[in-house]
Amino acid sequence: MKYVDVILPLPLEGTFTYAVPAAMQSKAVAGVRVLVPLGKTKTYTALVLRQHDSKPDFDVRDIYAVLDDEPVLLSTQFSLWQWIADYYMAPLGDVYKAALPAGLKAEDGYRPRTELYVKLAEPLRHEHALHVALSTFGRAARQQQVFMEYLAMSHWDTLEGDATAEEVEEITRDELMNTTHCTAAVIKSLTERKFLVAYQREVGRLNRGGEPHPENIKRLNEAQQDAYNHILLQSMSKNVVLLHGVTSSGKTEIYIHLIAKALQEHRQVLYLLPEIALTVQITSRLQRVFGSRLGIYHSKYSDAERVEIWKKQLSPHPYDIILGARSAVFLPFRQLGLVIVDEEHETSFKQEEPAPRYHARSAAIMLARLSGAKTVLGTATPSMESYHNAMTGKYGYVQLSTRYKGISLPQIQVVDIKDLQRRKLMSGPFSPQLLAAVREALGQQRQVILFQNRRGFAPMLECKVCGWVPKCKNCDVSLTYHKNLNQLTCHYCGFTYQVPAACPNCGNTDLTGRGYGTEKIEDYIRDLIPEARVARMDLDTTRTRQAYERLISDFAEGRTNVLIGTQMISKGLDFDRVSVVGILNADSMLNYPDFRAYEHAFMMMSQVSGRAGRRGKRGLVMLQTKNPDLAVIRQVVGHDYEGFYNELMEERRLFRYPPFYHLVYVYLKHSKDSLVETAGIMMGSQLRQWFGARVLGPDKPAVARVKSMNIRKIVLKLENGLDRAAVRQYLRQARQLLMQDKRFAALQVYYDVDPQ
Ligand code: ADP
Ligand code: ZN
Ligand code: ZN
Repeated sequence: MKYVDVILPLPLEGTFTYAVPAAMQSKAVAGVRVLVPLGKTKTYTALVLRQHDSKPDFDVRDIYAVLDDEPVLLSTQFSLWQWIADYYMAPLGDVYKAALPAGLKAEDGYRPRTELYVKLAEPLRHEHALHVALSTFGRAARQQQVFMEYLAMSHWDTLEGDATAEEVEEITRDELMNTTHCTAAVIKSLTERKFLVAYQREVGRLNRGGEPHPENIKRLNEAQQDAYNHILLQSMSKNVVLLHGVTSSGKTEIYIHLIAKALQEHRQVLYLLPEIALTVQITSRLQRVFGSRLGIYHSKYSDAERVEIWKKQLSPHPYDIILGARSAVFLPFRQLGLVIVDEEHETSFKQEEPAPRYHARSAAIMLARLSGAKTVLGTATPSMESYHNAMTGKYGYVQLSTRYKGISLPQIQVVDIKDLQRRKLMSGPFSPQLLAAVREALGQQRQVILFQNRRGFAPMLECKVCGWVPKCKNCDVSLTYHKNLNQLTCHYCGFTYQVPAACPNCGNTDLTGRGYGTEKIEDYIRDLIPEARVARMDLDTTRTRQAYERLISDFAEGRTNVLIGTQMISKGLDFDRVSVVGILNADSMLNYPDFRAYEHAFMMMSQVSGRAGRRGKRGLVMLQTKNPDLAVIRQVVGHDYEGFYNELMEERRLFRYPPFYHLVYVYLKHSKDSLVETAGIMMGSQLRQWFGARVLGPDKPAVARVKSMNIRKIVLKLENGLDRAAVRQYLRQARQLLMQDKRFAALQVYYDVDPQ
């Protein structure tokens, strides 16, 4: 008897074993999907991890069916899944769920799109037979005409003797109808009379990028060429190289050269980006050179499209280059030679919710290692971790400190809004200086980017009389006011509420919005500068891929000239005519209660500044803050990454944070607060027995209730050099011990490893 160990798409640890009926043995191999029973009634699409002969010591059930002729998963992918499940302490089933497009998980989820084709009937595929047939049309002139046209279009008419079907063009019924202007009825009679045969054929949904144009590769300038050479040189001894190049230094052009080299060596390339908005721009830059050798993969593609790309990567003619966001690390590659992680500092590479809470940068490095490929991390503002790895020699390091064409980095002007507010000189969120700069830029036919890291209209609504603030009933947060939708929304659980007509507390009808979201900024600009053509890019305006593409192309082509946005606009976008960038409120980023607040704020401000003056004149950045004297503001203004890094490293060492320590957060969630309180205390003392003072908490996090679940958080600070596999073993054990307590049956316990 043969058995298979399979992965189920459920949040369960480990694998499950089933027996394989004899007839299925040759097909139920590693990497194929099988249908299996679970419990009394359930059926799941499971994935075979391996086939073996060792009978388990429990009753095993048979698999129902094998769904694939060929594996849909390669062995390196399995290894990556296992690494992710182990390192991030996530159930393997959750990795399976995250990795595979839904259409590959359900046996009937993916229906290939088909199109109706017509072809010459088999008996007529001979010159003589065809002549005989043509003489039988008689008075059916229209049918004959259409049939003759078909023969011409398909080239059957130029073939001699026993022609084969391979030599002719395939013609769709619609093409034939369009060319001959005939009705479907005419073609139907031709098929009924057995001249033509109609058949369905699967058609690709994938975009075709056209022919590659290697001549479109730009020549690197001296600094770029130097960086390129150094990357190759360092790759000989290091698996990972950090390319630290200021904004607009031409890193993307260097990647293009690296990609071209990999393709010459018949290797594939994975190019990861943190933000879907960015894929739009990079796609057109890559397509100009690599044409249809480029495939794109991210969550805004339909599931059917993702299934198709997945299958293409397994076919004999895969894309040579995949450009994608986080989830693209899960695609199959047979010949991976190079992984590029662009904007490597971006925290959106880390998946927060749901499990697996993996970091795509780490996963990409691991994938490269498993595939024998090299990784290039690129950014203007390296993450603390990567820079530290580069400085200690674990990674290679290549620096590029001049902008392409020698344009200076933008001038950053700090505007003290505390003083201006006191003197009542602000127009809402705008200082007079910023407004003047915006007006001047628009007057000179230039463009403006305004950055505000809050979406919606106002982060909260408040009663002017009694101070009442509407809160979410499921979460411990105030609601965001969305004026366009005229509703209040919880940004934690997504729940929406009607805007109350009056304060439920005191009856006052004067409810005002406090703070500024992107929507309100947009209103202000329309009001203050009516001639501006404003666009807004945030989560609310980019629900579809088309919406992204339109926002970006409108701005790139000048149909809009003021782009307002959240962190989405800070990441690597390249526009020609942006001369002014406004950072409306630096303080909201700096006041965030997290040890990474300054790191994030520095990177966000440096990145968004980098959107200014990329071509032609030097750009101007107006940075509005109430804390102009903070060191981090000075460091942003001075483009002083090293200063920022060195200062923050001191703090990190002192307070035991990464990169000197690894962090693991333990989250406990339960609908009952007293229960989660008890569980947190028990878990904390258990962990303290093993890890001592490395354990902090349990504490209530800043938002202590989300989606009706009360939360406790325990922090583990683990010094480098600790056996991390052993640590994970202890952590799993701690959870098991806790879950044995019947009271905690509904308790959720999970880990966030390397939280961002
Ligand atoms: P980065 O990725 O470092 O921000 P980009 O690669 O986007 O920089 O380059 C900035 C701009 O300069 C882009 O518009 C790019 O097309 C242009 N550029 C960079 N290098 C070259 C080159 N070698 N030849 C022509 N144009 C270049
Ligand atoms: Zn009130
Ligand atoms: Zn909520």
